[in-house]
Amino acid sequence: MASGVAEVRNKQVIFGDYVTGYAKESDLKLTTTTTKLKLPEGSTGLLVKNLYLSCDPYMRGRMSKNGTLSYVETFKPGTPVVGLGVAKVLESGDPKFKPGDLVSGQTGWEEYSVITTEFLIKIHHIDHVPLSYHIGVLGMPGMTAYAGFYEVCCPKKGETVYISAASGAVGQLVGQFAKLTGCYVVGSAGSKEKVDLLKNKFGFDEAFNYKEEPDMDAALRRYFPDGIDIYFENVGGKMLDAVLPNMRLKGRIAVCGMISQYNQLERPEGIHNLMSLIVKQVRMEGFRVFSYYHLYGKFLETMLPYIKEGKITYVEDVLEGLENAPAALMGLFAGRNVGKQVVLVSRE
Ligand code: NAP
Repeated sequence: MASGVAEVRNKQVIFGDYVTGYAKESDLKLTTTTTKLKLPEGSTGLLVKNLYLSCDPYMRGRMSKNGTLSYVETFKPGTPVVGLGVAKVLESGDPKFKPGDLVSGQTGWEEYSVITTEFLIKIHHIDHVPLSYHIGVLGMPGMTAYAGFYEVCCPKKGETVYISAASGAVGQLVGQFAKLTGCYVVGSAGSKEKVDLLKNKFGFDEAFNYKEEPDMDAALRRYFPDGIDIYFENVGGKMLDAVLPNMRLKGRIAVCGMISQYNQLERPEGIHNLMSLIVKQVRMEGFRVFSYYHLYGKFLETMLPYIKEGKITYVEDVLEGLENAPAALMGLFAGRNVGKQVVLVSRE
């Protein structure tokens, strides 16, 4: 403390090395270092205290050296994991932010970080909206559901909608948007608890546990005897293959994610039923949420009243303690999360 600047212990989650095949908790290591509570001289960024961190499936792609999933930069071995989070500003080198401000955006998996203000969102805190919602229903997953459903799927009242990984951060919202549009909505998820949530909390018309369905084609025919107009794809692999022949004429498939493939990027599963796209004249479109952030203002204007009026509900799985972050991230690929997976690092 020679300079008179306070030094604090800073717990961090460090990325070990690039991974092939299944990622494990031990690929991420917990360490404690000391950090000066001061922005580096001349910095135009922010010194922040991290409050909530977001666990997202795309982060697995950042752990692969040449991951075909790396639509964002890979992690750097030996440095803290980076991801989306909610943080409190302690010191600012950017006149647009001041100490005490709450922000959401890219930050480190550590207690204190120095971050850039590029793409950072200032949070205007509202009492009935938990801060963690800014990395969930009001953050990237919320925007993904909103853009994917309304912009890519182009839904119409009365259409039939199927959502895989339906109880997760994105899926639970797509289902509720579809119900608000007047669609018939079916979701699949991997446990009884999740299926109950889909039907009883999120208002899906039907839901089923895909792990208990030996014949996915038969399951889909049971729930969609006249076919699927819209498929919101979160899973890929065998699920996509089973959906394709069950699509209706002029159906739409929004390819949001393919989580079943993220730990096998070197040998992804093949899809056999693509001919259905021609026969049924189906539009299948991949999308990235970051191409739709021009809609963020409109999204917030829609979502805030929806949340206040109870038209949209949101389930989070909040795990307390940075030391639990590696398990929380890996849990996404085993289906351990029930709702949006968040790590609480520090209460405000
Ligand atoms: P999430 O659904 O909250 O969590 C992942 C869930 O996926 C798990 O809980 C598990 O649920 C399911 N899952 C895991 N491995 C699976 C497998 N092998 N087969 C079938 N299901 C599996 O995650 P999310 O944040 O909402 O993300 C959902 C999808 O959207 C992901 O594919 C993600 O990459 C994608 N995404 C894309 C964008 C974009 O810009 N395109 C943005 C955000 C998210 P079950 O218990 O139901 O199996």
